[in-house]
Amino acid sequence: MNDVIIIGGSFAGLAAALQLGRARRKVIVLDTGRPRNRFGHHSHGVLGHDHKPPLDILAEARQQLARYPAIRLVNARAESVSGAIDDFCVVTDDHENLKARRLILSYGVADQMPDVPGFAESWGTSIVPCPYCDGYEVADQHWGVVWSGPQSHQSVRLFRDWTDKLTVFADGHDISPELRADLAHRNVPVADGRIVEIAHHKGHITTVNLDTGRNVAVDVLFAQPRNKPSASLHESLGLATVDTPTGVAIKVDERRQTSMPGIYAAGDLATPFLPSVTQSSWQGAMAGIFAQQSMLA
Ligand SMILES: Cc1cc2nc3c(=O)[nH]c(=O)nc-3n(C[C@H](O)[C@H](O)[C@H](O)COP(=O)(O)OP(=O)(O)OC[C@H]3O[C@@H](n4cnc5c(N)ncnc54)[C@H](O)[C@@H]3O)c2cc1C
Repeated sequence: MNDVIIIGGSFAGLAAALQLGRARRKVIVLDTGRPRNRFGHHSHGVLGHDHKPPLDILAEARQQLARYPAIRLVNARAESVSGAIDDFCVVTDDHENLKARRLILSYGVADQMPDVPGFAESWGTSIVPCPYCDGYEVADQHWGVVWSGPQSHQSVRLFRDWTDKLTVFADGHDISPELRADLAHRNVPVADGRIVEIAHHKGHITTVNLDTGRNVAVDVLFAQPRNKPSASLHESLGLATVDTPTGVAIKVDERRQTSMPGIYAAGDLATPFLPSVTQSSWQGAMAGIFAQQSMLA
């Protein structure tokens, strides 16, 4: 019997494994190798790893985990989960049946690309979700902001720390007269109409093309497409979730335990607000520590 099976071996899952391995707990990490930021060329804002390719950070972490004999890293997908605290069973796509006393879910989320030609091709290069991750490198350039509701007004205010050349793309949303007046006051033009195409060269945007026939040149586009968890194991387990502006997140308590005893969650999968590598690593570390402490004799 393993102590813990971790499903998803990226920033959150490996951070959990590190704490558990150092506590000499027997742990298996299942991973399919598709971290959310694999489209990005560099990862930013990660102390000690700033501006490194994300896959390099993960490869270095896996290398460091090799020091700990209690940790087993397995390239496999968790297909199903059953059982209860002290007796969970995970079946992998290699038909392996694995048993553990605790589970940590850290399988992340997948961004849902809109059906707009050029969007997916530019994702991570010139269409990005977060200014803390990618704003510094494109500071003072012309940024587009895809409006997704009144919360986008906060993005406009925030982005002024990086640039004063902003254009809002309404993308079919109604923007109230009050918000339009505020945007005008801030010298932020609104491009009405739906985005129908991103014209680009190797992922670098040239224009955002609208169904009104207008093509607007920007250097970078900030957008937060909807996302969904990368697996549905939490649904089959009936775990409680919370709604976020872009999808759902698994609900956890202050010890990162889900609504089912013995199952913990960490990383983007359980982050309703401002997901990041640092937040995922912190949450993973805490999930590992709390899972370990829940097994003390
Ligand atoms: C374009 C882009 C750029 C970004 N840039 C930055 C940045 O510069 N700095 C920053 O801090 N954050 C950045 N982020 C956010 C960052 O990517 C996430 O916060 C982080 O990857 C979340 O880590 P995680 O471990 O929760 O999930 P992920 O990194 O998404 O990893 C989940 C892992 O679980 C695996 N998995 C999924 N299903 C299963 C299953 N059934 N069985 C086994 N394994 C499974 C996946 O293959 C994956 O390896 C960026 C995000 C995007 C989209």
